[in-house]
Amino acid sequence: MPDKIRYCTSCSKYMLKEKCACGAHTESRSPPKYSPEDRLAKYRRQEKRKILQEKGLL
Ligand SMILES: [Zn+2]
Repeated sequence: MPDKIRYCTSCSKYMLKEKCACGAHTESRSPPKYSPEDRLAKYRRQEKRKILQEKGLL
């Protein structure tokens, strides 16, 4: 297993190529075993940030 994997945000797919079949450039991501959690964590962070901004804490 490579420790770096790439992700196409257009297709929501993981791959090793720097360019996806759809033509979009992929971005490096953590290994897939972290991906479902990572994706959710990203949304949770965004949500938390939004709440903090609304409260004027950021
Ligand atoms: Zn793609």
